Amino acid sequence: MRSIIINREFLVAMATSKFTLRLRSLALLAVAMFTACSNETPTAEQPALTPPETVVVYSARAEQLIKPLFDAYTARTGVTVQYTTDSEQPLIQKLLAEGQTTPADLLLTVDAGNLWYAAEEGVLRPVQATTLENNIPAHLRDPEKQWFALSVRARTIVYDTREVSPTELNDYADLADEKWRGKLCLRTSAKVYNQSLVAMLIAQFGEPRAEEIVRGWVANLATDVFPNDTKLIEAIAAGQCEVGIVNTYYFGRLQRENPDIPVAIFWPAASTGGVHVNVSGAGVTRHSSNPDGALALLEWMSTEEAQRLLGGENLEYPANPSVAADSMVLGWGSFEASPMNVAAAGENQAAAVRLMDRAGYR
Ligand code: FE
Repeated sequence: MRSIIINREFLVAMATSKFTLRLRSLALLAVAMFTACSNETPTAEQPALTPPETVVVYSARAEQLIKPLFDAYTARTGVTVQYTTDSEQPLIQKLLAEGQTTPADLLLTVDAGNLWYAAEEGVLRPVQATTLENNIPAHLRDPEKQWFALSVRARTIVYDTREVSPTELNDYADLADEKWRGKLCLRTSAKVYNQSLVAMLIAQFGEPRAEEIVRGWVANLATDVFPNDTKLIEAIAAGQCEVGIVNTYYFGRLQRENPDIPVAIFWPAASTGGVHVNVSGAGVTRHSSNPDGALALLEWMSTEEAQRLLGGENLEYPANPSVAADSMVLGWGSFEASPMNVAAAGENQAAAVRLMDRAGYR
């Protein structure tokens, strides 16, 4: 009901400011043409090409995930969102290289390790935002308020339903037990998802115990590590191994294609530390020329309307706990996430990489 009322108000506002909007469109077109003709990074002498009504986002999330979201924001507010998509590291390097001349107002990326790194490199700024603090649980946001989770991704255990009973499963540490010798599949340690997982194990158990666990995993491997989660799940379905660790959305995609896939999800219990979660999230850039606009967009992304668009699109879970997850519909049940702050994934990432190397996890 509320959204209908707001929509009506917006339509009235649109009608009364049609002329202004038309002028704004022309200005934007001119800016777009100028930018398209110029391969140069804007210099200090000509930085303010972007009108303040526009928010510029550097996004490591794919266009098909963010476009519906930004379109909805534009429809609601009249604010234009321009975006550049790339992998997270190139985007952070771009922000560093551009410094004060960056056109970007907001950085949107996946993995707490990447968000933490962006903050460490000084490309984000702390913000005061009660809405964000109300909508996003404390363990899913930066204690320094430089970034906030927007969606939650669960990295959990999957198993072969023909060979394994869920009663045999326990937690991540249990996959190091010798009862799983020759039965475990893992994705490469080069992927940040596994670096974050091991970083969180360090936070939970301390480094010596975390190393013991990783060594146990390596001893239990059925085959070489996989380049991605999808191949790993397919290997379980093919009977190559019986257990593995993946992000649930990869499993969801395969399950949508093949509802009879003989693989299921297992959620480690809260009593054993809960499910390892990671996030996608965003922060306002240090040198944003429109920090208020960036913050308004970020705050909106934490609200119910945006959370539905964001999580559902990629089978992720909403970061805002008051929004029910569509993924529940897939019949996976609910889970208890690890209560540890995901920032530890960044803080312990270098230690995790060294640990996995020592343990022979490739
Ligand atoms: Fe992924």
